[in-house]
Amino acid sequence: MNKEPPSQSQIDKFRDAARELGTDDDPERFGDKVRQLAKAKLAPTGKHEKPSEPKVCPECGHVFQGNGWDGIDAHWKAKHQSVMPYSEAWPLIKCGTYIGDA
Ligand SMILES: [Zn+2]
Repeated sequence: MNKEPPSQSQIDKFRDAARELGTDDDPERFGDKVRQLAKAKLAPTGKHEKPSEPKVCPECGHVFQGNGWDGIDAHWKAKHQSVMPYSEAWPLIKCGTYIGDA
């Protein structure tokens, strides 16, 4: 998925948001606010790593919102330990060869 610069419609959304925040009375501050909003929107994690596709649990389709597979161990142990022990499932999940029902 390509990360494109904000389109005109996105700018309009930011403008509306900025207006709600009461910054529309000052064009310069308004511009800064729009840029901040655009930046926040484009870089929600605030990290310098390049964004990657969200990881999805192959067993239930749960989307991991964190960095990469963060939380897979706890998730697997809580939900799918009975299907396959985490220690066996993880190498398969990691290289994308785990075949689940999702
Ligand atoms: Zn799952």
